[in-house]
Amino acid sequence: MSRLPVMSSKRVLAENAQDLAPAQKRLRKDADPVKPAATVIGTKRPALAATRAPICVIKQSVASTTSKGGNMKQPVASTGTKTGGTQKRNPWDLKGKVSDMEDKVRTYQIKVKTLNQQNEVLQDSVSQSHRKIVEVEKELQIQRSQNGEYEMKLQVLAGVQDELEKVLSDKNFLQKELTNLEGKYRVMETLRDSQETELQTLKMNLSVQESTLARVQVNLRDFEEEVRSLKETVAQQKDELYAGEMERRRLHNTIQELKGNIRVFCRVRPLVGGGLPKHVQLATSDNKAITLAKTEESHTGKTADTQKNYNFSFDRVFGPRASQQEVFEEISLLVQSALDGYNVCCFAYGQTGSGKTYTMEGDEVDETRGVIPRAVQQIFKAAGKLGEQGWEFTFTASFVEIYNETLRDLLYTGKSSKRPEHEIRKTTSNEVTITNLTYERVSNEDQVLGLIALANQNRSTAQTAQNDRSSRSHSVFQLDIEGVNAGRDVKCKSTLCLVDLAGSERMVKSQSQGDRFKEMTAINGSLSNLGIVIAALANKESYVPYRNSKLTYLLQGCLGGNSKTLMFVNIAPEPDSFGETLNSLRFASKVSAVLFPVFIGQSTLMMSLH
Ligand code: ADP
Ligand code: MG
Repeated sequence: MSRLPVMSSKRVLAENAQDLAPAQKRLRKDADPVKPAATVIGTKRPALAATRAPICVIKQSVASTTSKGGNMKQPVASTGTKTGGTQKRNPWDLKGKVSDMEDKVRTYQIKVKTLNQQNEVLQDSVSQSHRKIVEVEKELQIQRSQNGEYEMKLQVLAGVQDELEKVLSDKNFLQKELTNLEGKYRVMETLRDSQETELQTLKMNLSVQESTLARVQVNLRDFEEEVRSLKETVAQQKDELYAGEMERRRLHNTIQELKGNIRVFCRVRPLVGGGLPKHVQLATSDNKAITLAKTEESHTGKTADTQKNYNFSFDRVFGPRASQQEVFEEISLLVQSALDGYNVCCFAYGQTGSGKTYTMEGDEVDETRGVIPRAVQQIFKAAGKLGEQGWEFTFTASFVEIYNETLRDLLYTGKSSKRPEHEIRKTTSNEVTITNLTYERVSNEDQVLGLIALANQNRSTAQTAQNDRSSRSHSVFQLDIEGVNAGRDVKCKSTLCLVDLAGSERMVKSQSQGDRFKEMTAINGSLSNLGIVIAALANKESYVPYRNSKLTYLLQGCLGGNSKTLMFVNIAPEPDSFGETLNSLRFASKVSAVLFPVFIGQSTLMMSLH
């Protein structure tokens, strides 16, 4: 854009260079008041604007010049004042024409001069502009690098801003937390205040308690002293009690021995229809004698009927009205002996139906309970009391039946086809045990009653298979008792045997055949052997034929020595049982008779306890 006027100005310059100076002067004069019209960039802009401004001015002036120059004839017309404007000179007016030409030349010279001036100015301006451009470019470069830096800084600042925002949100969160915590703190403060009040109260209480404690401690010391002396007294009394217990045992045993280590009691069953049997007479003076009276009719009828009396006396005779309780009172002393460490054996002997099972087991109702449940009850009760003196007892029960000289476990609960066989064995310590037999550990009365029920069930099962077998077998209930008094280092061991014997009735030999004969032989054999064994023991014979029957072999530990033996002879009061009753009484009195005089010796309790 700027070149066109420059070029034209060069051309004008060549035509007339000498008239430039005034034009330049005028230009500079005009340039000064021109205010910068261009955009100002940086501090150096005004200079550039100043440079450009003249160019604009020059353009205007050049334009005005060229427009004038482009219409060359107009100036002639305008300068033709002399010729009168557009008036043509006359062909002859050469002088006028020359002067016109000269005018034209002068005009052009002025124009050239002006243009040259303008050109110079422009060149100057261009070089200035170039310099400015270089400077501006440099500056631009600097600005760009600064821009880069700024951008980097901006990025950094953006990061910082992000961080700031994060920090701000953190701050908000923390502020909320702070508010929360402040709330909690206030609650805690209230709580603390109330706790402090409480603490104060507690402190006061504590001091009160401390003073009470001090008083109590003083009292405690007194009490401790008292307890110590009481303990000493208790220990002393325990010793005395133990000594008393030992003395009681010794005396009890002495009494039992005085009464006889082997005793025979007779018990008469009531008549089925009630009333008293005529042929059985009981002494009214004491309860030790019984008379069996038999009236023999005169064979000739001429003489009066004669009455034959059979008198027997036993340790005790119980009439038909004697209750189970009465009967047991006598035995309970022996049960006590069993707990004291002596073996005790109690038999019920008599014909079938005479009341052996009733005496030994009784019925289930309390009043009619027999010897076994009552003995068991007493034992557990007494063991409990002895427990207070440091005794600890263990009880083991077994129930065995002896039928035809074979043993049968009455507590067996397995399959009948798998019933094991049993044998009587003697251990090295001379104790008798039965192989494969159920020995049940018991600790209370109910357990034993359960075992008795089980035994009865076992017996009745066998009974249906073989009619009335129970009356032809012995049933032996054994309770092994072991007591330990750890504090005194004393032990005791004993067995309580309660035996319901097979019916003692004899059969006419011609009537018994086969199995019945075998049964009869077995029963007779074992019962008579029992009598022989007891007699041998009572007479202190060197040989006691225990091994002759399973019953005596099994009971050998409970018979003899310090053992207590009691035989019940049960009597059936019916007249048709007279013969069997007589036999029973004879057997029992034989046993009883051999016992006299009874052995009375010093108690060997301590020996048996160890
Ligand atoms: P055993 O066992 O000697 O064969 P039991 O004990 O079975 O005889 O007695 C036969 C019957 O007589 C049973 O019904 C029994 O209840 C009854 N009995 C036995 N002794 C007495 C008695 N002292 N008081 C009342 N009833 C008795
Ligand atoms: Mg019976």
